[in-house]
Amino acid sequence: MQVSKRVTREIINALLNQLFMAYKKVESYKDEITSDLMDHYRECLTLLGEDPHREGLLKTPERIAKSMQFLTHGYSMDAHAILNSAKFHEEISEMILVKDIEVYSLCEHHVLPFFGKAHIAYIPNGWITGLSKIARVVDVYARRLQVQERLTTEILHAIKETLNPLGVAVVIEASHLCMMMRGVQKQNSVTTTSAFWGEFEKNETRSEFTKLISARLH
Ligand SMILES: [Zn+2]
Repeated sequence: MQVSKRVTREIINALLNQLFMAYKKVESYKDEITSDLMDHYRECLTLLGEDPHREGLLKTPERIAKSMQFLTHGYSMDAHAILNSAKFHEEISEMILVKDIEVYSLCEHHVLPFFGKAHIAYIPNGWITGLSKIARVVDVYARRLQVQERLTTEILHAIKETLNPLGVAVVIEASHLCMMMRGVQKQNSVTTTSAFWGEFEKNETRSEFTKLISARLH
């Protein structure tokens, strides 16, 4: 399957964009929520046997309160609006693949991180979107309490509903701290989830996609 120069250029732009976004700190906290969370986290520290008044912990409730708001900021984002904001008419019917998108999320059962990579492909049907938007859609659903299976299908549905493509494929590989630090303590296990729709339900297209995501170019 040929990837045009234009698409290659877009992939480079998306990577640069992602790099930039990784360093841009999102600092929008609601004071009232921060202060209520701080009260609760101070109480949690006491219940866990700590002294929230000792020097090292004085600012901890505030840090957790802000960090948790950041880690769940996906609730206030709209994936459909993000994809629609950069939707272009384009007669491409080749597979567009964005590989190795960083994923950081929190498991909803233990509120512990799970993290890894997402690989997303779609086959346009007249409409494409900016590749950096695909990466942002991952964050919309990852930055909230999640299970990996739902994260995978929510990303697929957002792309399917917005771009009306011929097919969408989403694969996520992630390590779960709730498995690594507690529970079964399996340090090296990686959970893979996948969702395929449309053209990707055909064996041929799906294996083309699988071949592309498992190929290492570097
Ligand atoms: Zn868990």
